[in-house]
Amino acid sequence: MGQGAGARNCVTILGVPIDQVSMDQALNRIENFIQEGGTHLVVTADANGIIIAQQDEGFRNLISQADLATPDGAGVLWAAKRKGSSIKERVSGVDIVEKVCALSAQKGYRIYFLGAEPGIAELAGQKLTEKYPGCNIVGTHHGYFKAEDELKIAQAIAAAQPDVLFVALGMPRQERFIQSTRPIIQAKVAVGVGGSFDVFSGKTKRAPKVMQAIHLEWMWRLLLNPSKFAKVKNLPKFAIKVLGDRS
Ligand code: UDP
Repeated sequence: MGQGAGARNCVTILGVPIDQVSMDQALNRIENFIQEGGTHLVVTADANGIIIAQQDEGFRNLISQADLATPDGAGVLWAAKRKGSSIKERVSGVDIVEKVCALSAQKGYRIYFLGAEPGIAELAGQKLTEKYPGCNIVGTHHGYFKAEDELKIAQAIAAAQPDVLFVALGMPRQERFIQSTRPIIQAKVAVGVGGSFDVFSGKTKRAPKVMQAIHLEWMWRLLLNPSKFAKVKNLPKFAIKVLGDRS
C-alpha cells in the first residue's frame, strides 16, 4: 500500500515512522490523494497506536507502508521534539473529519462514515451537515458487524463511490479493515479515526479547550469512560520507552 515511509518526510518514534506534517499539510496531502486515484491509507497515530505497533510487527509494517501517518496527540509531539523534529501541532482524526467535511461542503467530496454504535455515524453525519451545509455524506454504516459481513460492507462502500472513507472501529481494527478490503472499497482515501463519530454525534464530549490546550484530553476521556484504562495505561509505557530510546 502506498509509497511507504521511505518517500515521506518522517520522524521515527520507537521504530514507527510518523509524517512531519501540520494540519494544513495533511489536508493538502489528502486532497492530492483524491486527485491521484487509487486507494490511500491514512493513519492517525497516537501514543497508544505507536505502542500497539511496537508490539505487533504486522501493524508496524502497515503504518510504514501507509501513505500518511499523522502525529496525533501530545505524547507523539513530545517524542518527536526529543528527536529534533519540528512538528508543531497534533493532527487528530477528529480534526481531520471536521476539516474534510468543511472541504466537502466547498468542493463536493464524497464522504462515507463506517463505525461506532448503530445510529451514531448517521447522527454524526447529520450534525456535520448542519454545521457545513452541502457536506456530501454519501453513506454510513455502524461498526458492530461480524467478520463474515466484511465483504458485504466493503461492497456497499464501493457502491457509494466515496472519495474519503472514515473508519471508526478503534485501532488497529480500523486500519486492518482498510488493508484487507482495499481492493474492493475503491475509496480514494481511507482514514482510521477512532472515536470521532462519538464526538460529532454528541455521544462523547470533547475535553474543554483549556484541558486540550494543556494536553490533558486523555485524562478527560478517562474520567468519562474508565473502561479506557487499558489504553491510557499505555501512555506512561510510551513515555518510559521514549525516554529510554537512544536510537
Ligand atoms: N467500535 C466499533 N466496532 C467495534 C468496536 C468499537 O465501531 O467492534 C467503535 C466504538 O463505538 C468507537 C470507536 O470504535 O466509536 C473506537 O473509539 P476509541 O476512542 O476507543 O478508538 P481509538 O482512539 O482507541 O482508536
